[in-house]
Amino acid sequence: MNTIEHWINGTTTPAGSTRTAPVHNPATGHQQATVLLAEPSDVDTAVAAAAKAFESWGESSLSQRTKVMFAFRELLVQHEDELAKIVSAEHGKVIDDARGEIVRGREVVEYACGIADALKGSFSDQVSRDVDVHDFRQPLGVVAGITPFNFPVMVPLWMHPIAIATGNTVILKPSERDPSAASYVARLYTEAGLPDGVFNVVHGDKTTVDAILDHPDIAAVSFVGSTPIARYVHERATATGKRVQALGGAKNHAVVLPDADLDYAANHLTAAAFGSAGQRCMAISVGVAVGTAGDRLVEILERKAREVQVGPGSDPGSDMGPVVTAAARDRVIHSVTRGAEQGATVVVDGRDLHVAGHEDGFFVGPSLLDHVTTDMDAYREEIFGPVLAIVRVETVEEAIAVINSNPYGNGTAIFTGSGEAARKFQREVKVGMIGVNVPVPVPMSYYSFGGWKDSLIGDSPIHGPAGVRFYTRAKVVTTRWPHTEAGFNFPTSS
Ligand code: NAD
Repeated sequence: MNTIEHWINGTTTPAGSTRTAPVHNPATGHQQATVLLAEPSDVDTAVAAAAKAFESWGESSLSQRTKVMFAFRELLVQHEDELAKIVSAEHGKVIDDARGEIVRGREVVEYACGIADALKGSFSDQVSRDVDVHDFRQPLGVVAGITPFNFPVMVPLWMHPIAIATGNTVILKPSERDPSAASYVARLYTEAGLPDGVFNVVHGDKTTVDAILDHPDIAAVSFVGSTPIARYVHERATATGKRVQALGGAKNHAVVLPDADLDYAANHLTAAAFGSAGQRCMAISVGVAVGTAGDRLVEILERKAREVQVGPGSDPGSDMGPVVTAAARDRVIHSVTRGAEQGATVVVDGRDLHVAGHEDGFFVGPSLLDHVTTDMDAYREEIFGPVLAIVRVETVEEAIAVINSNPYGNGTAIFTGSGEAARKFQREVKVGMIGVNVPVPVPMSYYSFGGWKDSLIGDSPIHGPAGVRFYTRAKVVTTRWPHTEAGFNFPTSS
């Protein structure tokens, strides 16, 4: 069985790891590889390599870094098929979805290709007599990324291209559930001409994460994952003086007004709720049906949910694959059962799905729950699976109040034909990323990504301009060249 090793200083290595974890194929339910779990001493080895590499990479020219980014971008295009298959085999998502995450992640590399522009400082002439002021930004040193299972390519790409293009060196600790994509990306960087030690991958679990959080030679930590761990990472890493960006979980609402095109809204809600088996931080997990929109919306959603083809991600006929683990499948089933017990109407029930030939796979079908109320567990908990809960309200004001009372604030959307309602919604809702007739409003890479409230701990969103600021610190220089009577003193050859 394949053993997935760390990538340190430009090569695969077992380092000193003795502990391992199984990596499953969620479509078959069988173990397909073993991943090494790094000990603190392995993290030391990776940090030492990264710190050594920083001595020269931190001094590299903008054109050298840009050249690597352009080459890396081309390699991500060339190897898209292979990478998508790796993602699908360990995560379970369908191949098209896996391609989608590679494309969205690649956009961050494209932003990093323009790092020379993003790093331009400012200059103020003659702020006082003979005095000028300018600023510029410098890299932090060794930085770390800790990432979730649900986007094994895209989420790390939110971090490392910006960190590297701004002159830092990186330790990535990907999810131990689907670790292979990170190792593959590391090889592409080497092929792109990135010097050894600039990008390193240590695989691992909590022990590895804790070693990163406590390491004195790591300057900053970027984390994306669930809210309790985001909070933990933020507290522990800031306690050791690190800069931290920590993105957490979500419960994203889509409001549907009666004046919306309900077919259009239902189509998009279906894709946003059940795509990637609901395992997206921007998935829509709550539909808020306003007034008369409710009955018709649920009727169309029911039809569409029943049309979703569930099967292995490698099958081109599948719209939706399995969830990532048996535990995730059991959690989803339990949430639907609790919803029914607490009074929700189970309109579509995905609990008993069987996929022929894949009896051991971690499959669960789409579920649609109607008449969900905000005190039910199916509303309060982040299920992170293919479950869409419909909450019914009478007015747009009520819909906004529901969203604003929810502890999460990652993404939200409104479906309406009214500009007035859309404008009111985007101004009043306490959520970081908003879609108007767009269900999954993930910002382009030249904006930054981040939610509000429990979806982002601390105050730093990720990638785009916020990413450049996060991975650099500014110096402001005040300059006076005193006037000399002798005038300019040019050196001569004599
Ligand atoms: P997770 O929090 O379980 O794991 C994330 C990372 O933290 C992994 O690398 C994991 O190894 C590590 N980790 C897990 N438990 C730990 C512990 N006790 N101590 C230290 N480290 C630990 O998240 P997940 O299940 O991999 O991913 C799903 C979650 O991520 C969902 O909550 C989802 O909403 C969230 N997510 C958020 C965003 C966003 O942009 N806000 C994006 C993607 C995923």
